[in-house]
Amino acid sequence: MGTPITTIELLSFDGFDQIAALPGYRPDNPLCQDNYRKILGWYRFPEKHTCCVQRPGGTLCGTPHNHGWVAELKDGSVTILGADCANDKFGADSAVFKDIGLALNAKRERERQQKLEHLLGQGVEYEQRLRDAIARLKVARRGIDELLDGVGANFRSRIERMAKSGNASVMVEGVKTRHYSENGKSKQENSVIKHVVGSLHGLSAIDRQQFISLTVEMEHIRVAFIDAKGAELLSRTLRSEIARRIEQCDPVLMRAEQLESMVARFLDNSAWPYCFLTDDRSERSKVAKLAMKQSGVQGSREHAKTWLLLQEAELCQRLGVERIRIDR
Ligand SMILES: [Zn+2]
Repeated sequence: MGTPITTIELLSFDGFDQIAALPGYRPDNPLCQDNYRKILGWYRFPEKHTCCVQRPGGTLCGTPHNHGWVAELKDGSVTILGADCANDKFGADSAVFKDIGLALNAKRERERQQKLEHLLGQGVEYEQRLRDAIARLKVARRGIDELLDGVGANFRSRIERMAKSGNASVMVEGVKTRHYSENGKSKQENSVIKHVVGSLHGLSAIDRQQFISLTVEMEHIRVAFIDAKGAELLSRTLRSEIARRIEQCDPVLMRAEQLESMVARFLDNSAWPYCFLTDDRSERSKVAKLAMKQSGVQGSREHAKTWLLLQEAELCQRLGVERIRIDR
């Protein structure tokens, strides 16, 4: 059996010349189960080099690889083998394969450690970026709430329902009444057509919970950066908890950015479809004022009521119906 990998320092080679410079290195040096001693490290080159695992027949594997392992043999000489070749040629029970498994873990752990050190090296910047992102999310959420609360409870609950269902299209019903007489009695019959007034973008920004959880997560990471400064004094468990949080830094900042742009898309919606989300007159006049302004007409809310009536009349004419019903 080889030396336990966890206790030795694995080398990493990023140029073939570094391996060739090892005193024990010999080209085309056959590796088999019997002459294997230990894994020295891993290699990754731009170019490929042929694998030196010895086949049962005696010839070398010869597969070209640009990444794999550097092994020391019992006679002290050094050779290379391709990344997956130990499993393919010697099987999962072989000492080589088991050592490679341990070495892989050590390699991943080291890479994780390096990434963590890199993040910690930029701790001050990250703390600031997290603080900024938290502040920006707060402003973004306020923008949504100001719009929803500014219009009213019916409007808010309708938009929240739409966000939950994921159905973003705003539909109205155009109603046409046919009057006729039958057996001397006058009768009427309604025919209804559905019409899509518009579609709302960025609806997934409505859910408030995601702002809260993302902010809490960012706050935890920010604190983890601060805690990391005195981490040598902390227990192993606490240190790995801090590391786990810090590693989430980039993905979480990315999510915050995505949420922000979702909010921007929502706030960028045309107000015209908003006019058809509720029957509430006062709420409708508020969004009508917005829609009127977007269409280039300035005026009071009273003015907007008339404007909306005119727009609706125009829509009725276009659809060939007598009135518009809010579809809920
Ligand atoms: Zn091979």
